[in-house]
Amino acid sequence: MSLIDKVKQAGVVGAGGAGFPTHVKLGASVEWYIANGAECEPLMHKDRELMTHFAAEIVAGLLLAADSTRSRPAIGVKRKNRAAIAALKDAIKKSDVKLCYFDDYYPAGDEYEIVHTITGRLIPPQGLPLDVGCVVNNVETLYNIYNADRGVPVTETFMTITGCVRNPLTTWVPIGMRAIDVLDLAGGTTIDDFAIMESGLMMGKVIQDSNQPVTKTTGGLIVLPQNHNVISRYSKTQKQMDRIGHAACDQCSYCTELCPRYLLGYDVQPHLVMRSLGFSHLGAEIWSTYAQLCCQCGLCTLYACPEALYPREACMKSMNDLRAIGRGKWEGARAVKPHATKEFRRVPVRQLMTRLGVQRYEAEAGYVRMHVQPSAVTIPLKQHIGAPSEPLVKKGESVQKGQLIARPPEGQLGATIHASISGSVSAIENDRIIIEA
Ligand code: SF4
Ligand code: SF4
Repeated sequence: MSLIDKVKQAGVVGAGGAGFPTHVKLGASVEWYIANGAECEPLMHKDRELMTHFAAEIVAGLLLAADSTRSRPAIGVKRKNRAAIAALKDAIKKSDVKLCYFDDYYPAGDEYEIVHTITGRLIPPQGLPLDVGCVVNNVETLYNIYNADRGVPVTETFMTITGCVRNPLTTWVPIGMRAIDVLDLAGGTTIDDFAIMESGLMMGKVIQDSNQPVTKTTGGLIVLPQNHNVISRYSKTQKQMDRIGHAACDQCSYCTELCPRYLLGYDVQPHLVMRSLGFSHLGAEIWSTYAQLCCQCGLCTLYACPEALYPREACMKSMNDLRAIGRGKWEGARAVKPHATKEFRRVPVRQLMTRLGVQRYEAEAGYVRMHVQPSAVTIPLKQHIGAPSEPLVKKGESVQKGQLIARPPEGQLGATIHASISGSVSAIENDRIIIEA
């Protein structure tokens, strides 16, 4: 069986957050296959820990992927992660893997940034790494490719559990385990009135229901006090954000001057997008086009704006509005040229943490090997880009850990799903399968 088929059968998707089915990327013909280990979300350490403790598996997965696509393998890693670098150096010894170092800035792990830093190539506006001969996979995805080659499907996700918990750590967690139970793996919370952020403070989201299950793309859980500034920033409605932005934006343009995509040479100008808030429908699209190349990194909203406004959210709204009227496709200049001051305007993660007010929550959160056995798991049928998978099991049926329980409709983009624990199927609802141990 080809690697593509094995990866498809194992249900491997982009573990960095996007959830794109990985077997599709393996079918590409490219020059570079890049492992993204340049983790940059504050407080998150799962990629660092994975590279430190599972470097051989990641490199094996990378070499398999590079071989399948006949490309050159490379790994991007933060210079500060010395233990991970030592482990990777050891693992790549007899191979031609290129190790590339990144300083500790945000967002070093952005695909456009990583492709530019490693290859010198600039992805065209609204393009993909594929457009410049590259595939980028998160290091956990490559670990999963290694497992898929051995016939082991994706049943766990590697996560950092940190913030207001007793023992911050990073470990493997069965897919479908409830967020609130995952916190117990780290000794439980240290406060009563808390909120949980999933997969990062900058690009993650606040979990509304702590019974929500973790999925293949969950990279971590961060517990913060309910009244923490970051949580408050995420609690506004679109209407509130629009109203404040319309009234208070003084067009200082700090949001644009620090925007990493703007500095990389793309025509993203959030301060101009903020002008769209002054229009109802007619006229707003003139300013909305300056949002189209935004990657939603959040720096403008959570770091740059001195008035604590919401330029990222204005960009997201503008992009949706343009798509709704059939104007979502970029029609501006194709040429991209990095800004002359790009390198001097990097945002160090430490400085970002100070701005967010989360320095006190920074913890080592090292890898702890655990045997996690939840009493039940709730496995969503859509954890990926594409069509939701269709159940292959029935209520009352016994399943074994690793057994195929759902697959995408014939001919449609999607990913297979496997039981993450052994037990009995207690319910099949519209969008999920519940298994009790
Ligand atoms: S940084 Fe804030 S105040 Fe300044 S232009 Fe951007 S949104 Fe407006
Ligand atoms: S979220 Fe803001 S800073 Fe980030 S790419 Fe979009 S406009 Fe630029």
